[in-house]
Amino acid sequence: MKAFAYVNPTNEKDAVAALSPQLEHSMPIGGGQDLLARMKDYVTQPDRIVNVKSALESTVTPFQGGLRIGAAMKMVDLSEHAEVARMYPAISAAAIEVGTPQIRNQATVGGNLNQRPRCWYYRNEEFVCFKKGGNTCFSPAGENQFHAILGGGPSFIVHPSSLAVPMLAYGATFRLSGPKGERLVPAADYFTLPTKNLRTENVLAPDELLTHVMLPAPGELRSGHYEVRYKTSHDWPIAFATVLLSMQGGKVRTARVVMGAVAPVPWRARAAEQFLAGKTITEATAAAAADAALRDAHPLSQNAYKIEVAKVAVKRAILRAAGMQTA
Ligand SMILES: Cc1cc2nc3c(=O)[nH]c(=O)nc-3n(C[C@H](O)[C@H](O)[C@H](O)COP(=O)(O)OP(=O)(O)OC[C@H]3O[C@@H](n4cnc5c(N)ncnc54)[C@H](O)[C@@H]3O)c2cc1C
Repeated sequence: MKAFAYVNPTNEKDAVAALSPQLEHSMPIGGGQDLLARMKDYVTQPDRIVNVKSALESTVTPFQGGLRIGAAMKMVDLSEHAEVARMYPAISAAAIEVGTPQIRNQATVGGNLNQRPRCWYYRNEEFVCFKKGGNTCFSPAGENQFHAILGGGPSFIVHPSSLAVPMLAYGATFRLSGPKGERLVPAADYFTLPTKNLRTENVLAPDELLTHVMLPAPGELRSGHYEVRYKTSHDWPIAFATVLLSMQGGKVRTARVVMGAVAPVPWRARAAEQFLAGKTITEATAAAAADAALRDAHPLSQNAYKIEVAKVAVKRAILRAAGMQTA
């Protein structure tokens, strides 16, 4: 690993001051579960790392009828938080499935949302892809079993954060802090496609921190979250979905369907949402909504199977939200 300086600020202002506008020069570290692995593999080689665990909040507080989550909160604490589970069950469901207990004991909310892609070309120092300033994505002509089936190109990574998907579904807003002060960015605008931004996966500047996640009052939403993994491994899901339903008289009034591990961003399936509006949830309507969610999928040479896997995730998340599937 390349030698680096370590800064341990105790407040947000000092933490921001220790960052740099230069990409990957001075980088925040939460639990280090992603950043340290990249540093050991010579994928990311910062000159300075800035520990944000003593500088940022790690608690959940009431906020305008919803909740505000500090970015330094550990994933284990998020997954076990009673109010989060009561108000936003899909967030708890996603958090408890992240990695292993050891990983959740170290990982933070801010680090989870900002972790970098798991693409094996990106993670290998030998491959200088778009994400590392190169001029190609190796996956279309290479091994692409786990890559994007929606929204891909020119890079075909899938977004790695399990938390990002329910956060987007619940309409979270992220508070960012930088040298010019704070800014609030809806989760829907935070994550960016490679067509907009090739080097990174979001709008965070190199000298900004994600400090809080604000969740609006959930209202009378019913939620379902379903992840499909290879066997029962601790690895990232092959595809997953969060579904939120607002019901009226046994029929869906409005639906929110967001898929994970299928695209370079958490992917909102608007066609499925429109299809579900006004419908009674049955096995058949859930399956038809899942078909609609994947209608525009464009698989690469080795990942067409992910279309069916994603359909299963969407269908089962819908049935879970309707209280019809518990397994
Ligand atoms: C076997 C295995 C299975 C896993 N399965 C899953 C899974 O199913 N789902 C899932 O979501 N993850 C999974 N992970 C990944 C793991 O959850 C993440 O690496 C972890 O959540 C990252 O959090 P961290 O605090 O350790 O981040 P760090 O490694 O500290 O940081 C990650 C990145 O975010 C940046 N960063 C950190 N904090 C902030 C901040 N406050 N503001 C701005 N930028 C910041 C860092 O600079 C770095 O680039 C898995 C990991 C392993 C090893």
